[in-house]
This record gives sequence, structure tokens and C-alpha cells, in this order.
Amino acid sequence: MKYWESICSRCGLCCHSKVKIGKRLWYLDLGSKCAFLSEDSTCSVYPQRFRLCPECRKLTLLRALTAEWLPPQCAYVQWAKRHHIRFSRRCEWVMALDETHIE
Ligand code: SF4
Ligand code: SF4
Repeated sequence: MKYWESICSRCGLCCHSKVKIGKRLWYLDLGSKCAFLSEDSTCSVYPQRFRLCPECRKLTLLRALTAEWLPPQCAYVQWAKRHHIRFSRRCEWVMALDETHIE
């Protein structure tokens, strides 16, 4: 496994539905995951993921540094922060099983 891929902790959080509310709040729906995410939080179609899932995005270095839609628990976000190269706007995150948790 390449070093870059080995950074991923396989938490599966980026494979759930997320929506931005207002300018700085992100809501991640833990009850709505990609159809290809397995019970063990790994991708069941990893080699073909970009062809089979239009929403799937490659985790590039640029995204690790700047993508707002990556949750703070993401190992790439943590990696970028440790190296002081995380430039994304600071946002709040709400993670819940359904939208009734949004105020
Ligand atoms: S297809 Fe993409 S979004 Fe879906 S489980 Fe695989 S890596 Fe995650
Ligand atoms: S959120 Fe980050 S660490 Fe978790 S599965 Fe996605 S890319 Fe890997």
C-alpha cells in the first residue's frame, strides 16, 4: 500500500451524505451512507469506485489541504493539521442519525 493511501483510517465518514448549512456549518448524516460502503466501513467497489459512484471523490493532496467537506475526524485532515498545511475555512460539524438533530 502506498504511503498516501495508508494515511486513511477507513472510518468511512466521507462516504456518508453531507450538506452545508449556512456559511460554516456542515451536517453529516450517519444514517445515509453510500450503497457501496461495507459493514466494516471499507469500500466494496474500491477499484471501480469513481465509475460506479458519481459522488465519489479522489482524496488528493489538494483536497486534504483544502476540502471543507472532509470531516475533522478524517485522518487526512488530521495529517494536514499535524504538518500545519491545512488551509480550509474553519467550520462546525454536526453528525447525527437524522435531520431532526439540526436546529
Ligand atoms: S464508492 Fe466512494 S463513496 Fe462509496 S463507499 Fe466507495 S469510496 Fe465511499
Ligand atoms: S473520512 Fe478520511 S480517514 Fe475516513 S475513510 Fe474518508 S478519507 Fe479515510
